[in-house]
Amino acid sequence: MKLSSLYNEQQELRRNTYSSLTQIYQEVQTFKQELKDFQSFSYLLMRNFQHQYQDYLSQIVDVVQGTQLENENLQFFQAKAVDLEQSLQEINERYQVEKQKRKALHNDLVELKGNIRVHCRIRPLLPFDTESGDPAFQKRSLSLSEKVVHATDDETVLVRCSRPGHTLFNKTFQFERVYSPLESQKIVFGDVCPLLTSLLDGYNVCIMTYGQTGSGKSHTMLGPHSESDPVSPSEADQEMGIIPRAAGELFRLLSENPTINPRVEVSVVEIYNNELFDLLTKDSSGIFGVKRDVITTKEGKSNVPLLTYEHVECPAEFMKLINKSLQLRVKHPTLVHADSSRSHLVVTVTLTIAVPFDSFDQQLSQKLCEEMLCTTQKVKTSEKAGFCPRGLSPAPIPLDPTEQQKQVQAKLQLVDLAGSECIGMSGVTGTILRETSFINRSLAALADVLGALSEHRGHIPYRNSKLTHLLQDSIGGDAKLLVMLCVSPCQKYLAETLQSLGFGSRARQVQRVQAKRRNLLVSGKSK
Ligand code: ADP
Ligand code: MG
Repeated sequence: MKLSSLYNEQQELRRNTYSSLTQIYQEVQTFKQELKDFQSFSYLLMRNFQHQYQDYLSQIVDVVQGTQLENENLQFFQAKAVDLEQSLQEINERYQVEKQKRKALHNDLVELKGNIRVHCRIRPLLPFDTESGDPAFQKRSLSLSEKVVHATDDETVLVRCSRPGHTLFNKTFQFERVYSPLESQKIVFGDVCPLLTSLLDGYNVCIMTYGQTGSGKSHTMLGPHSESDPVSPSEADQEMGIIPRAAGELFRLLSENPTINPRVEVSVVEIYNNELFDLLTKDSSGIFGVKRDVITTKEGKSNVPLLTYEHVECPAEFMKLINKSLQLRVKHPTLVHADSSRSHLVVTVTLTIAVPFDSFDQQLSQKLCEEMLCTTQKVKTSEKAGFCPRGLSPAPIPLDPTEQQKQVQAKLQLVDLAGSECIGMSGVTGTILRETSFINRSLAALADVLGALSEHRGHIPYRNSKLTHLLQDSIGGDAKLLVMLCVSPCQKYLAETLQSLGFGSRARQVQRVQAKRRNLLVSGKSK
């Protein structure tokens, strides 16, 4: 019994052990399968890793090779930059030499052209040319607005007019340059521009627009503007006239020559009824310009005592002054017509620059030095007496014998003349008569001065009018004058156009005297 129960227990234990073993066996099988799966997964992972490793390795090799290449390129470019720097230096040196040559050629060219040149600009037909108030006159008005003034080439104006019952009028006029109505402000300025280079070379320059009212004088000088809405350099860039363009070009030229230590001063005057008004200073009422007088100095130069000269450092400051002065011009009490064409506007730019001495200058300066020292004494005395206002024309400093540079002063005068249409006008009375006779007289005085210059007369009647007196230094034989005739193309203004063309033709006859360099020594500059 005991054995039997032991046997049963044994059997039971064996069954249990067997079932446990079976279970373990199954688990071992499962584990083996899992191990196999893991093995194949590891293998896959390993392969992937190997691929990626290969990829990265080849990328690293590429990058390293690329870096080496770039290093080589960098070295190549560095060497090239050094070469370029050297050649730039050479070019710069050559440019300086060429610049000197160009300057000499430019002056030869300007001198060949003579110191008085006359250009003529024909303005386009404008809406007001064809406006006809009364329908009865419409037909007549149409024929009056017919174009009779043409630019046949860039040096010839043809005036051709055939009216029923009149003989055919057909005449040509030659000028240094003729602009057709299609030619832009930029083209006009392109021909004026070389005169600014002359200014920097020390020549006095005058640019004036001549013509009847409405012929485009102010348009040419200032560009589109109205007195209530003055010119601004930023707006209507394309249509800017000579004054804003000259301001821009002058400062551009000065920035190219930083060593000349420039000083630019501006004065603006208006001449109305042969009286001169400083448009940069308000009178006691605070609304109008102040009356001034023009005198001739001991050295024979024209000068306006107490005239305001404002120092400007950029084109924007320059134009701000012009706009300010145009505002005063409008409010002028005696200008009953409020028409700017009844007065002359003169913008004077005084440029003082430092230039190195050369042997020729040395002799000249010796003489001028004494002159200037004399002027200095005078200015100092007047300063002490309280006569020297702020901004009065640059006061000279005594010369230093060790000086290396001298100061040269040149004047640029930009003139918008009064309308020339009144010449020969009859039957007018009152203020118009007074204005007319003053305009007549000053324009006639201008013609007389040009005539006297052309005939090399000993006495040039500059002092016959305030206009010619003020412009004396820049229309005389040693300065460069450009007269821009402005004419209308239509028949309506034929008489005025012919008068302007006649004035221009006579001005052209001024003998081509070689303009001499100003060399107006103001002061020396110590080392
Ligand atoms: P002026 O000063 O001779 O009396 P303006 O310059 O005031 O004449 O010109 C009269 C009008 O004709 C203005 O409205 C101006 O804009 C226009 N004008 C003059 N010349 C031209 C031109 N070349 N192109 C376009 N318009 C012009
Ligand atoms: Mg005008």
